[in-house]
Amino acid sequence: MAAPFVNIHTHSATGTGIELVNIDNLDSAPSATFASAGLHPWNVDKCDHQQALAAIETLCQNGNAAAIGEAGLDRAISTSISLQMSVLEQQLDIATRHHLPMIIHCVRAYSDFLQILRHESSVKMIFHGFNSNQTSANQLLQHGAMLSFGHNLLSNNKLQTTFKSIPNDCIFLETDTKDISINEIYNFAAELKSTSIDELKQIIFNNLTRIFGNRWETIG
Ligand SMILES: [Zn+2]
Repeated sequence: MAAPFVNIHTHSATGTGIELVNIDNLDSAPSATFASAGLHPWNVDKCDHQQALAAIETLCQNGNAAAIGEAGLDRAISTSISLQMSVLEQQLDIATRHHLPMIIHCVRAYSDFLQILRHESSVKMIFHGFNSNQTSANQLLQHGAMLSFGHNLLSNNKLQTTFKSIPNDCIFLETDTKDISINEIYNFAAELKSTSIDELKQIIFNNLTRIFGNRWETIG
């Protein structure tokens, strides 16, 4: 039997395969059983951080979060990097204590993350919606990160070349907020990797079980 599709980052469940669904409202009971909980850098200045971090901690304690995120750094927004860094570090701490991977949002902050990755080896970081260059990809991979690719893969030629070159055990695929099916992304990605969809499903499913153990089995 072929492995299921794995959508490592989405904001709404579709029922196709295994989906890691981001909890967008930390105060409501999570509707998905395989979910990520985090404070997005875009929301850092819109909420009470300590309250949000406490809510994330509670979700982890109750076994309702399989990952911390999306969390990260975004140098394209006006919120100060020092504030973003402080909120990120507190989420890294939660991930460390609960042995959870992180779904990372990174915009123009790859060098900040390389710095963090040099000192932080226990938390597995999955850079979602990766859309940067080959050098950034190589550097992140050297430090044990994983890269998740979404809709940008369909239109960005350089990103396609990068995707082809990186090892299969470092990749995930995702839909994020885009109106596109995970099936469509797998189709395109399999062609780039010169492999079959079933083969690609097996590769990514293996990556999922390596990083998440059997946490995804709580679905359904
Ligand atoms: Zn997202």
